[in-house]
Amino acid sequence: MADLEQLYQQVIMDHARMKHGAGLLADHDGESFQVNPTCGDQVRLRVKLDRTGVPTVSDIGWEGQGCSISQASLSLMHDLTEGHTLTEVEELGELFREMMHSRGTFPDEKADRLEDASALMGVARFPARVKCALLGWMALRGALAQALVNEPEDTP
Ligand code: ZN
Repeated sequence: MADLEQLYQQVIMDHARMKHGAGLLADHDGESFQVNPTCGDQVRLRVKLDRTGVPTVSDIGWEGQGCSISQASLSLMHDLTEGHTLTEVEELGELFREMMHSRGTFPDEKADRLEDASALMGVARFPARVKCALLGWMALRGALAQALVNEPEDTP
Protein backbone atom coordinates (compact mmCIF):
# COMPACT_ATOMS: atom_id res chain seq x y z
CA MET A 1 0.00 0.00 0.00
CA ALA A 2 2.98 2.32 0.33
CA ASP A 3 2.95 3.12 -3.39
CA LEU A 4 -0.73 3.97 -3.30
CA GLU A 5 -0.19 6.28 -0.34
CA GLN A 6 2.57 8.03 -2.27
CA LEU A 7 0.34 8.39 -5.30
CA TYR A 8 -2.39 9.91 -3.15
CA GLN A 9 0.12 12.30 -1.59
CA GLN A 10 1.21 13.37 -5.05
CA VAL A 11 -2.36 14.03 -6.21
CA ILE A 12 -3.01 16.15 -3.10
CA MET A 13 0.20 18.15 -3.48
CA ASP A 14 -0.43 18.71 -7.20
CA HIS A 15 -3.97 19.98 -6.65
CA ALA A 16 -2.96 22.16 -3.70
CA ARG A 17 -0.57 23.87 -6.14
CA MET A 18 -2.69 23.92 -9.31
CA LYS A 19 -5.98 24.96 -7.66
CA HIS A 20 -8.37 24.06 -10.48
CA GLY A 21 -11.31 26.45 -10.55
CA ALA A 22 -9.45 29.16 -8.62
CA GLY A 23 -10.78 32.64 -9.37
CA LEU A 24 -14.19 34.11 -8.61
CA LEU A 25 -16.91 34.07 -11.27
CA ALA A 26 -18.35 37.51 -12.04
CA ASP A 27 -21.55 36.00 -13.47
CA HIS A 28 -22.97 33.60 -10.87
CA ASP A 29 -26.20 32.39 -9.29
CA GLY A 30 -25.04 31.57 -5.77
CA GLU A 31 -22.17 32.22 -3.40
CA SER A 32 -20.99 30.86 -0.08
CA PHE A 33 -18.21 31.86 2.30
CA GLN A 34 -16.97 29.19 4.70
CA VAL A 35 -14.35 29.17 7.42
CA ASN A 36 -12.76 26.27 9.23
CA PRO A 37 -11.71 27.90 12.51
CA THR A 38 -9.80 24.88 13.80
CA CYS A 39 -7.26 25.18 10.98
CA GLY A 40 -7.79 28.70 9.64
CA ASP A 41 -8.89 27.60 6.16
CA GLN A 42 -11.36 29.80 4.32
CA VAL A 43 -13.04 29.91 0.95
CA ARG A 44 -15.45 32.01 -1.05
CA LEU A 45 -17.09 29.91 -3.72
CA ARG A 46 -19.48 30.87 -6.52
CA VAL A 47 -21.58 28.71 -8.81
CA LYS A 48 -23.28 29.26 -12.13
CA LEU A 49 -26.16 26.99 -13.10
CA ASP A 50 -27.34 26.01 -16.55
CA ARG A 51 -31.12 25.70 -16.40
CA THR A 52 -31.81 25.09 -20.11
CA GLY A 53 -32.51 21.38 -19.54
CA VAL A 54 -31.84 19.25 -16.49
CA PRO A 55 -30.29 21.77 -14.04
CA THR A 56 -26.52 21.51 -14.29
CA VAL A 57 -23.63 23.10 -12.42
CA SER A 58 -22.00 24.80 -15.38
CA ASP A 59 -19.27 26.73 -13.55
CA ILE A 60 -17.57 26.71 -10.16
CA GLY A 61 -15.07 29.37 -9.15
CA TRP A 62 -13.45 29.87 -5.78
CA GLU A 63 -10.93 31.91 -3.90
CA GLY A 64 -9.44 30.41 -0.79
CA GLN A 65 -6.52 30.09 1.50
CA GLY A 66 -5.44 27.53 4.03
CA CYS A 67 -3.74 24.19 4.35
CA SER A 68 -2.88 21.87 1.45
CA ILE A 69 -5.74 19.52 2.24
CA SER A 70 -8.39 22.24 2.10
CA GLN A 71 -7.03 23.71 -1.13
CA ALA A 72 -6.50 20.35 -2.80
CA SER A 73 -10.00 19.26 -1.83
CA LEU A 74 -11.48 22.38 -3.46
CA SER A 75 -9.51 21.78 -6.65
CA LEU A 76 -10.47 18.09 -6.77
CA MET A 77 -14.12 18.91 -6.04
CA HIS A 78 -14.12 21.42 -8.91
CA ASP A 79 -12.90 18.77 -11.36
CA LEU A 80 -15.30 16.14 -10.04
CA THR A 81 -18.50 18.19 -10.02
CA GLU A 82 -18.34 20.86 -12.73
CA GLY A 83 -20.62 20.04 -15.65
CA HIS A 84 -22.70 17.56 -13.66
CA THR A 85 -26.41 17.79 -12.83
CA LEU A 86 -27.52 19.08 -9.44
CA THR A 87 -28.66 15.57 -8.51
CA GLU A 88 -25.29 14.06 -9.39
CA VAL A 89 -23.43 16.77 -7.49
CA GLU A 90 -25.57 16.13 -4.43
CA GLU A 91 -24.83 12.39 -4.64
CA LEU A 92 -21.11 12.98 -5.03
CA GLY A 93 -21.18 15.28 -2.01
CA GLU A 94 -22.90 12.61 0.06
CA LEU A 95 -20.35 10.01 -1.05
CA PHE A 96 -17.47 12.31 -0.20
CA ARG A 97 -18.91 13.00 3.27
CA GLU A 98 -19.37 9.28 3.78
CA MET A 99 -15.74 8.66 2.81
CA MET A 100 -14.54 11.37 5.20
CA HIS A 101 -16.39 9.72 8.08
CA SER A 102 -15.29 6.19 7.15
CA ARG A 103 -11.99 6.37 9.06
CA GLY A 104 -10.25 4.78 6.12
CA THR A 105 -12.52 1.82 5.38
CA PHE A 106 -14.31 2.87 2.23
CA PRO A 107 -15.26 0.37 -0.51
CA ASP A 108 -13.40 0.62 -3.83
CA GLU A 109 -16.54 0.83 -5.95
CA LYS A 110 -17.64 3.94 -4.08
CA ALA A 111 -14.14 5.42 -4.10
CA ASP A 112 -14.02 4.98 -7.88
CA ARG A 113 -17.02 7.24 -8.29
CA LEU A 114 -15.12 10.01 -6.53
CA GLU A 115 -12.31 9.73 -9.12
CA ASP A 116 -9.17 11.63 -8.04
CA ALA A 117 -10.97 13.09 -5.01
CA SER A 118 -10.65 9.62 -3.46
CA ALA A 119 -6.99 10.53 -2.91
CA LEU A 120 -8.26 12.32 0.20
CA MET A 121 -9.44 9.03 1.72
CA GLY A 122 -6.44 8.87 4.04
CA VAL A 123 -7.50 12.15 5.65
CA ALA A 124 -10.44 10.28 7.21
CA ARG A 125 -7.97 8.69 9.61
CA PHE A 126 -7.20 12.14 11.05
CA PRO A 127 -10.46 13.52 12.50
CA ALA A 128 -8.91 16.93 13.11
CA ARG A 129 -8.29 17.33 9.37
CA VAL A 130 -11.65 16.08 8.11
CA LYS A 131 -13.09 19.61 8.34
CA CYS A 132 -10.28 20.83 6.05
CA ALA A 133 -11.33 18.35 3.36
CA LEU A 134 -15.04 19.13 3.81
CA LEU A 135 -14.70 22.94 3.66
CA GLY A 136 -15.12 23.15 -0.11
CA TRP A 137 -18.07 20.79 -0.12
CA MET A 138 -19.81 22.89 2.55
CA ALA A 139 -19.24 25.97 0.41
CA LEU A 140 -20.58 24.20 -2.69
CA ARG A 141 -23.70 23.09 -0.85
CA GLY A 142 -24.25 26.62 0.48
CA ALA A 143 -23.74 28.24 -2.92
CA LEU A 144 -26.11 25.79 -4.61
CA ALA A 145 -28.77 26.36 -1.95
CA GLN A 146 -28.54 30.09 -2.61
CA ALA A 147 -28.65 29.56 -6.38
CA LEU A 148 -31.85 27.57 -6.05
CA VAL A 149 -33.48 30.25 -3.89
CA ASN A 150 -32.55 32.80 -6.57
CA GLU A 151 -34.34 30.80 -9.24
CA PRO A 152 -35.58 33.03 -12.08
CA GLU A 153 -39.35 33.60 -12.09
CA ASP A 154 -39.92 33.55 -15.83
CA THR A 155 -39.60 29.78 -16.35
CA PRO A 156 -42.32 28.66 -18.78
ZN1 ZN B 1 -6.92 22.88 7.03
